Amino acid sequence: MATLFDPGGSRGFVRVAVERGVDRYPEGLTYSVPSHLGPLAVGDRVRVPLGRTDTPTPGYVIEMCDAAGLDPARIKPVSERDAVGALPGQLLELARWISNYYCTPIGMTLSTITPAAVKRQVGLVTRTMIDVPAPEGEPVCVAPKQRQVLEVLRSLPPAERPIELRTLAGLAGLRTTGPIRRLLDKGLLTGTRRSVVEASWIEQALDRTIPATLTPGQQQIIGDVARELAAGFSAHLLFGVTGSGKTEVYIRLIEQVVAAGGVAIVLVPEIALTPQTGGRLIGRFPRHRVAVQHSGLTAAQRHQQWAMVADGTADIVLGARSAIFAPVPDGRLGLIVVDEEHDGSYKQDQAPRYHGRDVAVRRAQLAGCPVVLGSATPSIESWFNATVRRSYRLHRLPERVPGLRVPRVIVVDFAAERRRRTDRRVHLIGPTLETATADTLRAGGQVLMLLNRRGYANYIACPDHRCGWLMCCDDCDATMVYHLDRRLPTGGYLQCHHCEAQQRLPRSCPACGRNVTTFGLGTQRVEEELHRKFPELVAGDSMVRVDSDSMHGARDFHSVLGRFATGEIRLLLGTQMIAKGLDFPRIQLVGVINADTAIHLPDFRATERTFQLVSQVAGRCGRGGTPGRVIVQTFQPDAPVIRLAADHDYEGFATGELAERRRCELPPYTRMARIVVRDPDYGRCREAARRLADSLRGLAGGTPSIRVRGPAPCPIARIAGRHRHQVELFANTAAGLQTLLSAARRDGLIRPGAAMAVDVDPIALL
Ligand code: ADP
Ligand code: ZN
Repeated sequence: MATLFDPGGSRGFVRVAVERGVDRYPEGLTYSVPSHLGPLAVGDRVRVPLGRTDTPTPGYVIEMCDAAGLDPARIKPVSERDAVGALPGQLLELARWISNYYCTPIGMTLSTITPAAVKRQVGLVTRTMIDVPAPEGEPVCVAPKQRQVLEVLRSLPPAERPIELRTLAGLAGLRTTGPIRRLLDKGLLTGTRRSVVEASWIEQALDRTIPATLTPGQQQIIGDVARELAAGFSAHLLFGVTGSGKTEVYIRLIEQVVAAGGVAIVLVPEIALTPQTGGRLIGRFPRHRVAVQHSGLTAAQRHQQWAMVADGTADIVLGARSAIFAPVPDGRLGLIVVDEEHDGSYKQDQAPRYHGRDVAVRRAQLAGCPVVLGSATPSIESWFNATVRRSYRLHRLPERVPGLRVPRVIVVDFAAERRRRTDRRVHLIGPTLETATADTLRAGGQVLMLLNRRGYANYIACPDHRCGWLMCCDDCDATMVYHLDRRLPTGGYLQCHHCEAQQRLPRSCPACGRNVTTFGLGTQRVEEELHRKFPELVAGDSMVRVDSDSMHGARDFHSVLGRFATGEIRLLLGTQMIAKGLDFPRIQLVGVINADTAIHLPDFRATERTFQLVSQVAGRCGRGGTPGRVIVQTFQPDAPVIRLAADHDYEGFATGELAERRRCELPPYTRMARIVVRDPDYGRCREAARRLADSLRGLAGGTPSIRVRGPAPCPIARIAGRHRHQVELFANTAAGLQTLLSAARRDGLIRPGAAMAVDVDPIALL
């Protein structure tokens, strides 16, 4: 029946999830479909009037429905259909799972899945595509320029027709499109209008190196996984030391998938998405389309790459975390690879707080295809799944490929190193590392130096212990970090690494008037010291610092890597940006300035992270045939985690770590969710957290398999002026945790938003 809003009649009703943080049950809002829109399908993006003011709001059709029980006169019609094509059904299903599992409204989840550049349709233009009519007409007498056009067009392989008007003019050597238009008028050519996404060409250095023979280990694994390619879902953990040829295993499997007409998705951590990774994959698939998705692309390029996946032209998708949402047409996904699966950058730190690896496993389940997780230092979760739960199959590549040597790791006691110095200066580079650096540079080798902390110094304090003044951020419970900046008259500024607020460096202690001192470490201080110790290294030229202060975007980073590859840069100093994915044969020495930066954080994953960081950075070394050296400076040379990392003993580490997690009833033996309540007012924050904890305890009703911990102030109890209190939930099973969370959501106890963050399977606990 026609309603007041819809005089033209209606084609039924749909439920639409709007792109807002509205969380309600049942999901979505009911709208009528006016006939002039044509039929809508599940997955379509639309615009609907929302609220009393009928604000036009984008959303997705999540269900076809009827209007039973609703007053038809009050149902508003869908305003328009969006230019973004419908999402594949599988992706919609995946979004539903994410929405439930990570406690995020479905509309918000769907909004995350579609890149902003796609929603804004950046780069979309309409072009005229030219072809010859079939069957072709009799040869006719035409002007020479027109004949040229016809000849060029006929010589094109069928796959390249129809061709865009201007491109054709260029190929035919014409300066205007006049001759083509005259042929169109005569009916000797056909022209169709088509929407295409135009973007500038993505530069990519290709690497086509193919190893002559596979190692027996590689062959075995390729065979094992390949057998599963047509057998539905299976999960595989490929545990192989760096340089053991994991990438080659992925490539061989992808070859089989694309040969069968399937599509493969390859995820890599954002900062490992170097031109090297891309060049290797694209170089090995010259006859296939590889769509890339990373932060270094322009909006138009992103849209173009996405569209290539959506229309089925791409056979391989390579990208960071969000590439797991590539709109691969239903039925074509054949394999998902998650490289460096342990990497923290797979976890998104805003709602929906999903983990790219876990979403990948889920997507493979929905698509019925294998998923391969690869790492030299698997996450404890994946190791648990492979060795304890045995839900993943474990494949090992314990040795480096022929020609690559295992680097020698030397652990040095930083305190003892300091005692060897006779001057009173601060030395972040001890004598051992200093000598090794000098030797390596002299021998023409390259050096990588890692310190996982940016800035110059992370403490600004009064030198007098009795005063004890320490410079903290006004809005966060954290110290300010001093950054050098020669462009400023003061030579530097203070920054809070939590809220980004900046301040000037005070000259004197506001409490007692003494001159302030700066201490603690940061990459800038190491850079300064390197400059002093190795005057032959020129900052910005033969020595480059890589951290989020010095690099402005992926392009900067890529250009530095290019210069490192040519040997122009001799020493690369940086934060964990340099710890991943680099593959340069001339790195002879890796120095870890301080392996302890993470060890003492109040986070049960601190040891795991320390192990990963030391092992990963060590793996950058010795790729060129000479073994290479890794020097690890630490205040705890005897800590098991440092010893095990130095011995390349992941399994020993994982065994100990699992025992510890089990003893403390921590993940992966339990499942965890963390809810952070935020409020500018301390009392209100504490009170809201207390009420939340009480209600959750009530809901859990004394079930022994569920523990509610807190409320308690977060380790960083205030960020950007908002106090933070947390409640932690632990359950013996994922299902148990999900049941509690769904109940809490349904009762309105947990509402993700400004005042509350819900993190399921959290990896950061500060
Ligand atoms: P990983 O991904 O495990 O770090 P890669 O696949 O990058 O290892 O391999 C390391 C290097 O060894 C690469 O340069 C690669 O081309 C080469 N390589 C891979 N497999 C073989 C093989 N079977 N024989 C010789 N070299 C190989
Ligand atoms: Zn701050």
